[in-house]
Amino acid sequence: MPELPEVETVRRGLLPVMEGRTILQAQVNRPDLRWPLPERMAERLTGQRVLALRRRSKYLLADLSGGETLLVHLGMSGRMLVSGAMLGAFHHDHPAPQKHDHVVLDMEGGARVTFNDARRFGAMDLMPSESAESHPLLAVLGPEPLGNGFDEAYLVAALKGRRTPIKAALLDQHLVAGLGNIYVCETLFRAGLSPRLLAGDLGPAQAAVLVPIIREVLAEAIEAGGSSLRDYRQADGELGYFQHSFRVYDREGQACITPGCGGTIQRIVQSGRSSFYCPQCQP
Ligand SMILES: [Zn+2]
Repeated sequence: MPELPEVETVRRGLLPVMEGRTILQAQVNRPDLRWPLPERMAERLTGQRVLALRRRSKYLLADLSGGETLLVHLGMSGRMLVSGAMLGAFHHDHPAPQKHDHVVLDMEGGARVTFNDARRFGAMDLMPSESAESHPLLAVLGPEPLGNGFDEAYLVAALKGRRTPIKAALLDQHLVAGLGNIYVCETLFRAGLSPRLLAGDLGPAQAAVLVPIIREVLAEAIEAGGSSLRDYRQADGELGYFQHSFRVYDREGQACITPGCGGTIQRIVQSGRSSFYCPQCQP
């Protein structure tokens, strides 16, 4: 499932072919994804210029010249493919339409942007730009982890009195938006905090360590994604998926990478999700 860095990588890959350009033709091939698609969606997109392509948590937001904003969520298996335009050093011809190509945008400049989603947990919606932030999917979100609204003071206040484990609290999108299982595991490992620590017991000193590590882990992943946009692996025009090595995630039974630790990575299940951690480094 794409997490925040993957979605940011998709956004950066789409910027040169979408931002400032007009959607010459939109093709919508089915009435619904996870939920029904907006009425007359193709008509409402065609002829619109993309003023800005933004990201909020794991949602892409395209502000259109006619005053509407297109919201896109990749869901579990949604993929964005770009063809027919210069992408780094590669030129991609339009491939033959695939079975799960649900929305196709032909952009001014020659690029074709295709949303393909085999499992259809993705979503798209159109809403007035002026009230985009109050869309039901966006209104419930906490601050962006890379934004100014997320700092030590906020985190301590938001966790105060919480009797849930820190792992579950950081996955709570009301508390901080866009953090997923992989990057929370990596963050807690680097911070030396047990995933079982009760959220309300996190002190100001620990919060002061945790916040910059969250930003660092996400920034490193976004950087890796940015590199992938220039990489040969993107030659098929698919955006957002990249090779990334993790220090603790998905390493159950393997040796801890901390020099001199000698511990073994453990996996426990919390709130139905796997937590990977080193019992020595994260007591
Ligand atoms: Zn260790």
